[in-house]
Amino acid sequence: MAACNDPLSQVLTNPENVKRVQQQLVLLAHAEMCRRKRGSYPNMKCCTPYCPLLIEVLTHLNSCMVGTSCSTPHCYSSRSIITHYQRCKNRTVHCPVCDTLKTLQNSESSERSIPEDLFEPYFFAF
Ligand SMILES: [Zn+2]
Ligand SMILES: [Zn+2]
Ligand SMILES: [Zn+2]
Repeated sequence: MAACNDPLSQVLTNPENVKRVQQQLVLLAHAEMCRRKRGSYPNMKCCTPYCPLLIEVLTHLNSCMVGTSCSTPHCYSSRSIITHYQRCKNRTVHCPVCDTLKTLQNSESSERSIPEDLFEPYFFAF
């Protein structure tokens, strides 16, 4: 098989990982939305698990200059997921990870759609 330069495709060969990556993508999308809202409402409270952590990761990503060799926790994994989603979102092909988020965003209630019984997001280090 030809080498694929999308590091996620390796990880996603395990169905268990698909669920975790899905969840991390949903949480990242939530954190991005939350971060923008916070620009206008700095005192806003958010009860979504891992949201503050992911906001930190997103803030870091915006200023991270080292890319793939960065040793900041979750930097590379989150960047890979975001990059994957940005490439994927305009495609019509079925993707086990991005389909969940596309569905949530179409339903307009993405905040409420985050399941309450969260398992720990899969911050894998690859
Ligand atoms: Zn939040
Ligand atoms: Zn970084
Ligand atoms: Zn995808």
